[in-house]
Amino acid sequence: MEEKGTISIHTENIFPIIKKFLYSDHEIFLRELVSNAVDATQKLKRLTSIGEIKDEIGDTTIEVSFDKKKKTITIQDRGIGMTAEEIKKYINQIAFSGATEFVEKFKDKEDVQDIIGKFGLGFYSSFMVAKQVEIISKSHEAGAEAARWVCDGSTEFEITTAKKEDRGTTVILHIEKDSEDFLDEFKLKGILDKYCKFLPVPIKFGTTEESVEDGKDKDGKPKYKKVTKDRIINETEPLWTKSPADLKDEDYLSFYKELYPMTEDPLFWIHLNVDYPFNLTGILYFPKVKNDFEIQKNKIQLYSRQVFITDEVKDVVPEFLMLLHGVIDSPDIPLNVSRSYLQSDGNVKKINSHITKKVADKLSELFKKDRKAYEEKWDDIGVFVKYGMLSEEKFYEKAKEFGLFKNVDNKYSTLDEYAELIKANQTDKDGNLIYLYTSNPGTQDTYIQTAKNKSFDVLLMDGPIDSHFVNFLEQRLEKTQLKRVDADAINKLIDKDENIESVLTKEQEEKVKGIFESAINNTNMKVNIASLSPEEMPVTITMSEFMRRMKDMSKMGGGYAMMGNMPDQFEVTVNGNSAVIDKILKAKKAEKKAQLAKQAYDLAMLSQNMLTGADLTNFIKRSVSLAAE
Ligand code: ADP
Repeated sequence: MEEKGTISIHTENIFPIIKKFLYSDHEIFLRELVSNAVDATQKLKRLTSIGEIKDEIGDTTIEVSFDKKKKTITIQDRGIGMTAEEIKKYINQIAFSGATEFVEKFKDKEDVQDIIGKFGLGFYSSFMVAKQVEIISKSHEAGAEAARWVCDGSTEFEITTAKKEDRGTTVILHIEKDSEDFLDEFKLKGILDKYCKFLPVPIKFGTTEESVEDGKDKDGKPKYKKVTKDRIINETEPLWTKSPADLKDEDYLSFYKELYPMTEDPLFWIHLNVDYPFNLTGILYFPKVKNDFEIQKNKIQLYSRQVFITDEVKDVVPEFLMLLHGVIDSPDIPLNVSRSYLQSDGNVKKINSHITKKVADKLSELFKKDRKAYEEKWDDIGVFVKYGMLSEEKFYEKAKEFGLFKNVDNKYSTLDEYAELIKANQTDKDGNLIYLYTSNPGTQDTYIQTAKNKSFDVLLMDGPIDSHFVNFLEQRLEKTQLKRVDADAINKLIDKDENIESVLTKEQEEKVKGIFESAINNTNMKVNIASLSPEEMPVTITMSEFMRRMKDMSKMGGGYAMMGNMPDQFEVTVNGNSAVIDKILKAKKAEKKAQLAKQAYDLAMLSQNMLTGADLTNFIKRSVSLAAE
């Protein structure tokens, strides 16, 4: 039998278009062809298990090999195979029409890059690397005759009968010049490891084994030769496909090490197993997250029936859980579509909220079971939980119970516990509960100590998303304000309307103000006189909570960027009741007054970490001369 024909498709030249589109992702041809081989093998097994096929199925190992000289890559399976008629139907019609549809849909789209790799082009993708493709197949059907199909990616094909002993399909790719770099052991092994590592049917790939002893040379020294050995490269039953009841902690930990070789052990994990209303299995690990959480993204691997699809799980996994590691496998995630479609897909939405719920339940369970152990993990999981509270309303509702605050003395409390704890001492004159926090206990120590002297509690908010978390809490919690410890003088930070009498007359206040203004000589420093308790610092420098938050936000980008260009404005609060002010007023010479004012001001600058350069040098010189007096 010999038949030549023309494949009936509308677009004559889909081939070059597809090549162009898929430029960046040529390697997926191997995933597609091996997946087809796996499907064919599993179909065979299914038919056997229901008694449709009576013959022994024998070894069904799939073989991937390459030949550098002949410039071929071969994928061979012992699956159900195809008759000539089936090749015409499935390859000529289905595979090519899939490709045509792809081109029709996306040829005018700008965001082609976005869909590449998500779109499984199936069999046709072999033409991204091959100038000619051969299929030799023998159907499982009794007495079937083998068929050979050849095509160069154009719409012309040729089909003949062929000789083939074994049932199954062999696909031979004749690699084109541009793609000869695929004829390389390490390259192919790398692609197989990426996409096929967990496929459910054993896959053999020839790998070169170094130096095996091969007789002796004429001097009696051992000779060596390089031998090629076939190795099974995949794990057919990866951990996530097993039942949690059969698994121990060690199993999860060693699987984690396999996925992320150089990473510290995870804190804990969740084994997902859903079969209604959608199918999903997987294992999500909670890694130790420190401040560099950006680089930890894209660690979750998405599989569809054990075929690796992508590690960009955006849209499938809620944003805040992208910091997790692990594997998600679902045949119900549509992969052959663009991202915008994915977002609106009903299954994807359900998967998203299911995962969110599972994670919340796990955290709640850990919190309730052993609070102490949970608190010990908090520094590592706090980022997730806060991020989740910020971004997912449903998660917030649950996380209210197990989200923690940590204060500067390393004490942890839940949101409710904390409000209760500070209620008595930190409610201001208007009935607002004031939470004090520090973003840097090292540089804000003076302010922290001042707050502690008043028995105020100070929260530690030095994490990467804490500035957002602070804003968020203020919106969520009623009659509550959050203020950084250095946002104002202590009496105004929590204004309880406890007026301390000023020892200064109005006239003296004006005078002191003038002395400081000319000593500071900077219009961005707004001087005001307050009557604080005499033990407080003579001068405090603060940036208002509002101003500072705007600045913080501008650093993180977004609509506040313009704030970044504004000069910093500070409040300089002079404590009229301090003994230093008394000394300034009593000093005889104007020069001395200015020197003392400057000294008190520099001390405040120093405690804000703002004293640098010549100002710092002058301060040190002045301190020495004051000490010598
Ligand atoms: P898809 O796999 O998405 O259906 P493909 O273009 O990859 O699309 O393949 C088209 C069809 O060709 C498959 O559905 C299958 O029926 C058939 N096919 C492809 N490869 C094989 C194979 N190795 N063995 C048997 N049938 C195959």
